[in-house]
Amino acid sequence: NADAAMYQAKNSGRDSFQFFTAEMNTKAHERFAMQDAIRSGIARSEFYLDYQPQVDLRSGHIFAVEALVRWRHPVLGVLSPVHFISLAEETGLIVPLGDWVLNEACRQNKAWQDAGLPHLSVSVNVSALQFQEKDWPQRVRRILKESGLEAEYLELEVTESLLMRNVDQAIATMKELQELGVHFAIDDFGTGYSSLSTLKCLPVTRLKIDQSFVRNLAHDEDDRSIISAVISLGQRLNMMVIAEGVETEDQLAFLRANGCDEAQGYHFSKPVDPGAMADLLNAPELILEHI
Ligand code: C2E
Ligand code: MG
Ligand code: MG
Ligand code: MG
Repeated sequence: NADAAMYQAKNSGRDSFQFFTAEMNTKAHERFAMQDAIRSGIARSEFYLDYQPQVDLRSGHIFAVEALVRWRHPVLGVLSPVHFISLAEETGLIVPLGDWVLNEACRQNKAWQDAGLPHLSVSVNVSALQFQEKDWPQRVRRILKESGLEAEYLELEVTESLLMRNVDQAIATMKELQELGVHFAIDDFGTGYSSLSTLKCLPVTRLKIDQSFVRNLAHDEDDRSIISAVISLGQRLNMMVIAEGVETEDQLAFLRANGCDEAQGYHFSKPVDPGAMADLLNAPELILEHI
């Protein structure tokens, strides 16, 4: 309703909005326009997914891909999620958008499997609002069923802040989905406020070391210490550890020397469309040469 939306427009963060209104003031009606644009963009299939490989550092194989949403806006061109996810979250539109993403990622992964490619897990980013929906586990189950993808080939990426909002509920929801076979990763690990006592109770398969620690590791001893501490933590808690944002040979060398299991980043591949992803999967040497 208009009053509620107006209230939201006045009170929520403006970061995502400034992008669209570089020289303008952020006004409620502009927010409405963007909100409408997201809504009709979903209806008009303007959103699509790119995929980025996640690489096992021992074998050099792609074991998973992360699905990353993009918006082909009719006027503004291709928009990165950093420019619309927070507005979608603030307006609740992340729920239908997130359903579309999950559905599309599962469908695509099943299509790769049916095409005879090696079986991979697909990782899908999940926002707090989606996760908090009462019927979220049933929705995930339905989407898996409709796509025909087995649950073990789906991983949901959640953030520490999502988990800490309501720890008991988060654990219950995760356990319900875990029983189906779905895996969980904690995204951007190290940037949030999760407590170690909570972490040990969570059914989490994987910690994703945030790219901010990886970026400057060559010059920042603290970042190197944090990374090696997270790797040890993951080993002790029986979780896999993947480093995000790996761009250079030196970063990779440090990660390997410190026992990091897995990596993702431009060093291996940028996020690419499904066809290019299939090419990468068909030509393992393209990744192996970077290992
Ligand atoms: P994220 O989940 O942490 O995803 C990793 C981001 O880092 C992606 O940005 C990816 O393109 C980028 N990246 C990967 N490797 C490198 C690298 O080597 N160097 C650098 N500089 N960047 C790298 P992207 O695609 O712009 O997505 C940004 C964020 O938007 C994601 O961060 C995630 O939080 C959110 N997001 C993306 N897709 C979805 C979605 O479907 N649903 C939700 N709720 N959030 C999404
Ligand atoms: Mg992610
Ligand atoms: Mg991340
Ligand atoms: Mg992120």
